[in-house]
Amino acid sequence: MPIYEYEAASPDQACPKCRRPFEVIQNLRDKPVRTCPDCGQPVKRIISWCRAAVMETPDEYSNTMRRIRNFESEGMWSHAAELSDKEASKTKDSSLKTRALDNYKKAGYDPKTLDKHAKSDDL
Ligand SMILES: [Zn+2]
Repeated sequence: MPIYEYEAASPDQACPKCRRPFEVIQNLRDKPVRTCPDCGQPVKRIISWCRAAVMETPDEYSNTMRRIRNFESEGMWSHAAELSDKEASKTKDSSLKTRALDNYKKAGYDPKTLDKHAKSDDL
């Protein structure tokens, strides 16, 4: 389940709980938390993406990395690129993103198309 982080909108009115970022586990369908459950002061979400993605097990991660390496060693650049791109957006790992772009280039993609791709990815 996704974990979101919140903190008080105005720290000077915050209680000990919301003065520092606190985590709330929520369903994707749940409404964002608007007030601190302890003191009722307005809070804001400080991380807009869901952290659950990072909580994939080390096994899954090393599995994915192994598959990326395999694709690379076999010269299947577009496969390697897609997989590392997917993993990069899941884990917010910028070195993986670079690796994905690198593999896209090796796969023969136009860097201009890649820029566009990266931008539409962020939206
Ligand atoms: Zn509070």
